[in-house]
Amino acid sequence: MSCTCDTARLVLPSYLDGELAARSRQELEDHFAECPLCSFEAEKSGEWLFNLRNSIQVHNTPPCFLESLEKNLIESLSRIRRARRDFLLQASIWAVIMAIVGSAVIFLADFL
Ligand SMILES: [Zn+2]
Repeated sequence: MSCTCDTARLVLPSYLDGELAARSRQELEDHFAECPLCSFEAEKSGEWLFNLRNSIQVHNTPPCFLESLEKNLIESLSRIRRARRDFLLQASIWAVIMAIVGSAVIFLADFL
C-alpha cells in the first residue's frame, strides 16, 4: 500500500514522535522521497518539535518545598486572623468611646 499526501499529514505527528510501526514508517519515508511538499512539511515540523522540546526547562523543587509552602501559608492565615481580630477589637473600643463622648456632649449640652 502506498502512502498518499493525506495519509502522510495524518500520521506525521506519530512519525515525529517515533510511534509508527516499522512498515508504516518505511512507507511514509518512501513517500517523502517522492513528494517534496510532504518532505518539506516533515522537515519543518521536526525542526519545530525539536526546538520546542529544547526550549522547555524542567525545574526541580527541593524536597522540603511543599512543607515550607504549607508552613508559610498557615503562618500567613494566622497573621490575617490576628489582624482581623485586632481590627474588630479596636473598632469596638472606638465605638464605646464615641458612645461615651456623645452621651457626655448631649448631657453637658442640657446644662449650657
Ligand atoms: Zn505528499
